[in-house]
This record gives sequence, structure tokens and C-alpha cells, in this order.
Amino acid sequence: MKKVLFIPILLLVLFSCSPDEETQAPTNTAQTITPEPEAETPEPLVVQYTLTITAGDGGSVTDGGTFGDGTEVTITAMPNEGYQFIGWEESASVSETLIITLDSNKIYQALFELIPTANPISELDISNLEGIQGRDGYNFYYNISDNLPIDWINEFKIILGNLNSVVHITPRVKISPRDGKDEMHIFAWRESEVLPFQDIIGNNKGYSISGNENSRFMVLEIENHEIQNNTNFIFSVIAHEYFHVYQINASIVEPSYLKYLFEGGASTLQSIFPKQYYNYNRFTTGAFPNVTEVAISSPVLFEPRNTIEATDQNYSNSVFIFLALVKELQRQGNTEIEAFKKVFIDWWKSGRTDVTKEVLFEEVFGFSIDSFYLALKSYNPNINSVLPSQSIRLQDIFTE
Ligand SMILES: [Zn+2]
Repeated sequence: MKKVLFIPILLLVLFSCSPDEETQAPTNTAQTITPEPEAETPEPLVVQYTLTITAGDGGSVTDGGTFGDGTEVTITAMPNEGYQFIGWEESASVSETLIITLDSNKIYQALFELIPTANPISELDISNLEGIQGRDGYNFYYNISDNLPIDWINEFKIILGNLNSVVHITPRVKISPRDGKDEMHIFAWRESEVLPFQDIIGNNKGYSISGNENSRFMVLEIENHEIQNNTNFIFSVIAHEYFHVYQINASIVEPSYLKYLFEGGASTLQSIFPKQYYNYNRFTTGAFPNVTEVAISSPVLFEPRNTIEATDQNYSNSVFIFLALVKELQRQGNTEIEAFKKVFIDWWKSGRTDVTKEVLFEEVFGFSIDSFYLALKSYNPNINSVLPSQSIRLQDIFTE
């Protein structure tokens, strides 16, 4: 219906705007109907849009391209051997095939993951598991290897308690089996062990929120040297992963992925947390030494999860852009606490279907993403130029 109406309107506008028409309508031959010179009429200007389709690790996608306005394009995600398709970054649909109607430039990324060896998480007996209950009904269950030192295990529980009392996670409305949970299992073990939870979580390693089509879980593979040196990283990374759980549960539809808000935000909270609870300043002790010129000249490179052009060690550039956004919000008249509320809370609660990141950005932050990128150019690409106040506390940000 929309298409049928649109085409005549478009043609009408094109013809009435054609400069040729004026010169072909001499006033002294008003009664002569001059036929349209078909051969010389310029091609009607069909609005073209670009569809970009990319694949995350573990699969491929059909080609994108440039198409006329209103074209319907079918895109398909194809997992590699041993991987499974888990969804589209920009869509709530979990179908491998999507039909896109091109009415603007669009970007779609297909996400894949390793097929786990088994998926018994939903059948785990939680009666023997320790855990913690969230104020708003979101609970964590601890699956912790005995090989972790008891000091680590005790500290881990204190940290979860502190985070849980300040950053309240809301169970998300169920839209797919994987999401819409009111609980998450945490699997923690020592790097030197041979994957003690492999039968439950497959080959997932490192520090992450991982998942399959039925559940998400937190993975904490604690590195040996972190335990030997008792570094604060092993504690701060828990805050990082915990905040990811907050981010992905704050709205039914996650807002458009912007790495500097997702990872930059989690890594910033990861740095505020040990400053507040351990008097350990990650910002000034070299956690982010690699902020580069590209953070201010091409911040768009730090929107997607991965770009070849831009390395982001420890999320240095993402954290820099995140903190620069806080500074810009303060320049617009927000207090520092108000500015942090916008990037830590409001953005994550703003997600909904059928809204572009440009619209959402301006709605939440009060200025356009383009004007923010322009403002970034005047910044000194060094983490020390955007540091938050020493006294900033998570309670002040997350208290409603
Ligand atoms: Zn992360």
C-alpha cells in the first residue's frame, strides 16, 4: 500500500522540479502541447540506499549492496561447521533469514557462537548452590571450582554482594528462551584447571557473558598470575561482567550496539568500583595506556564490536570516548552524576524496536551523535584528559 502511494508522489515531485520543463514551455505557444522528449528526459532519480551485512566470528552472510528505495532484500546468515546462529545484532528476530525493506541505509550483523557440548544449565540442581538474590528478583547462582583459593571465593562473594546492593538488575521480559530470564549462573575456576564445567558450558573460557540459544551465563576463568600476584584486576573484572548483565537486561530490546557505550561503560564501571571499594585507581595506574589519535578522528570505528582498523587494548579508546561523552554532557549543563546516569542507566533503558542509534542517541543525550563526534576532535586523546572525579561513587549514580 505504501509503495503504491509513494511512487506517483515521487514522480510528481521529480517532474515539477525539473528545470528542463521551464525552458520547454514557451509562453507564446500556450495552446501547443509539447510532447515530452523521451530520449532527453533525465533518468528519474530513484533514491538509493546501502545495505551492509557483516558476519561475526563463526559464519558468513549473503551479500549486501545498493538498492532502490523500498526494495525488499532477503538476507541470510550461514553458520560455519561447529557454530550456530544466535541472532542479528540489530533485530530481535532469531530467524536466520530476514526480509529487509530498504528505506534508509542499513547495517546488519549476524552473530554466531560455538555449539556447546551440552546445555544442562536449566536442569542444574540449584538447591545446593550458593548465590545471591537481587532486590528486583534477578538472582545469581555460584558454580565455583574448589581449586580457587578460599580467600578469592570469599572476596568474590563480598564483591557480588556490593554490586548487587547498588546496581539492581531487572529481569527482562521473555522474548526468547535465552533472554527473559530472572537468573544467571556464574562459573568460576582457575586457569590451570582443565575446564571443570565443560559438560555444562562447553569450551567457553576467559572473562565473558556467554550463552547459547537457551541461556546466558557468566564465565570467570581466573588467570594464575592474577591469583599469585593478588592483583585487583581479578576483582574489578567481576564488576565489568556484572554490569554487562545489567546492560542486557535493562530494556526488552537492547539499544543499538555502540561498543564505547557497552564495553567502554563496563570498563569504566570496572574502574570506578575498585577505586571506591579498594582505593585502587585503575585509571591512573596504566590500565588504559593505548588511547590513540583514531579515538578522536574516527570514533565511528568504536561503534561495532570489532573493526580491523582500530585496536582497542583493554578497551582504552572505548573508555576514552565514553568518558569524553560524560564530559560533553557536563558541558551541556548536567552535573557529573546526572551525566553518568545518562550513560550508565538511561541509555540502557531506552532500547526499543524500530529506532536508529542516531535517534536514540539524541533522545537520551540531548545532542546528535554527529555533533558529539565533531566535539571529540578538540579533545586530547589521553585518558588523563577525561578522568571522572576521584570522589565519584556508584551509589550516587545508581540511586533512583
Ligand atoms: Zn565486556
